[in-house]
Amino acid sequence: MQKILTGFNIQAVNSGVSTGTTWLPAAGEPIVSSSPVDGKDIATVTSATRADYDAVVQKAAEAFGAWRQWPAPRRGEVVRQIGEALRTHKEALGRLVSYEMGKSLQEGYGEVQEMIDICDFAVGLSRQLHGLTMHSERPGHRMYEQWHPLGIAGIISAFNFPVAVWSWNSMLAWVCGDVCIWKPSEKTPLTALACQHIAATVFAANGVPEGVCCLVTGGREVGEWLAADTRIPLVSATGSTRMGKAVGAAVGARLGRALLELGGNNAIIISKDADLDMSLIGCVFGAVGTAGQRCTSTRRLIIHESVYETFKTKLVNAYKQLRIGDPLDEQHHVGPLIDRQAVDMYLQAIEKCKAEGGKFVVEGGVLEGKGYESGCYVKPAIAEVENGFSIVQHETFAPILYLIKYSHIEEAIALQNGVPQGLSSAIMTLNLREAEQFLSQAGSDCGIANVNIGTSGAEIGGAFGGEKETGGGRESGSDAWKAYMRRQTNTINYTDKLPLAQGIKFDL
Ligand code: NAD
Repeated sequence: MQKILTGFNIQAVNSGVSTGTTWLPAAGEPIVSSSPVDGKDIATVTSATRADYDAVVQKAAEAFGAWRQWPAPRRGEVVRQIGEALRTHKEALGRLVSYEMGKSLQEGYGEVQEMIDICDFAVGLSRQLHGLTMHSERPGHRMYEQWHPLGIAGIISAFNFPVAVWSWNSMLAWVCGDVCIWKPSEKTPLTALACQHIAATVFAANGVPEGVCCLVTGGREVGEWLAADTRIPLVSATGSTRMGKAVGAAVGARLGRALLELGGNNAIIISKDADLDMSLIGCVFGAVGTAGQRCTSTRRLIIHESVYETFKTKLVNAYKQLRIGDPLDEQHHVGPLIDRQAVDMYLQAIEKCKAEGGKFVVEGGVLEGKGYESGCYVKPAIAEVENGFSIVQHETFAPILYLIKYSHIEEAIALQNGVPQGLSSAIMTLNLREAEQFLSQAGSDCGIANVNIGTSGAEIGGAFGGEKETGGGRESGSDAWKAYMRRQTNTINYTDKLPLAQGIKFDL
């Protein structure tokens, strides 16, 4: 395991607070990073005190004054080099993600690839931070809009995508001219330290001032400082809906800008016209990939009554093939949950589901014995339920899949939309009418709606996020960059007259 870590210069006890290549002697609570793979403690990271935090914000504010003056394409060149550094470290960082968080090695590498992809996207974006021009109603006047850097972007991230979410935010924020302060999940501090080392080395080599790339490790309290801090115009927060409501309220109370990426309760509709064999792969990967710990994990299958039994049998047989174990061993399909607290939530959800009348067709349970010493490995489960069960309305961050039967497409869409969350959705169908109905304004109410693809596994080119209790934020591709900039409308008069808009007369 030492080999995984040495590449990042991570020793036994590390400061978790940095303004770039400088690491503050952080004096906050120690956080022990423990791997759900084998239950072993990996290293200890010290979190930020309020004084450490204030020192970082001060440094970031100073750095913003300089960084915003760098031409955007030059900032893009620095981000291009971060992408190159990530290519160099892809294998080691991917392994560390897998070991610290517990996702499969393939998904660990995939997460780093996503970081590289967003770097490439941001490099191109650095020459395309376009504003519009408008025709003025007044003669001899010109109107246009421009996008300016915003300031400090605070980034609060979740454990399940410990590094990709930071890169979605920071790479865009940097080309936009912002400086970043990252508060990673307290469950995955080491991957954050690794990213900080990689990015800060590139910044230093390019003569970028300290403070552009900052890290403040800590628990909820550090996130609360960011949310309430008037020096931070944008707080981008990824995590549970509970957290998002708290952050949204704190940022809103000071009229700051919050970008919220919260929980999902994602469904796939299996139509009577679906290609069932292809659908099976999308459903099983969506439900058990990352042990059901993706915001886009498939939680509900809404299946047409005419194919319900057939598809259920296919699912049950597929679940029998699943190999659960060490995610660093590529033979395994399913790794562990993040910690024992997550295992308790999974067990409670199973009990609640049964109490509400759910019928398990694939039973769950915690695995014990050799290879499962961490106590975090659970069996993916499948239950037949009603959409209205309170447990079904709730996001359980574990591999529990709910089956619901429908008879008409309108009913299926209503069931799909009939939850408080609105992140990802999909329909499996070869019927063009149904597919278009699902994508129409009267169809899925989610931020992501797919046809013949499952709910998880988004590409970086599109804007990512969801509606309702998912928080409404959009990150990554398309025009998500606009959240990281401030828009300024400019009107220029090149005449010797001063006509007023709307034809208002004002003569002296
Ligand atoms: P979590 O809400 O427990 O923690 C997320 C982050 O928020 C952590 O860094 C935590 O320290 C911080 N935090 C917690 N309470 C806070 C508060 N009151 N103020 C400020 N910061 C606070 O979430 P988690 O268990 O790490 O992650 C799982 C959740 O994240 C799931 O609900 C999942 O759907 C969601 N998620 C959403 C997306 C998305 O893009 N929509 C992506 C990944 C994960």
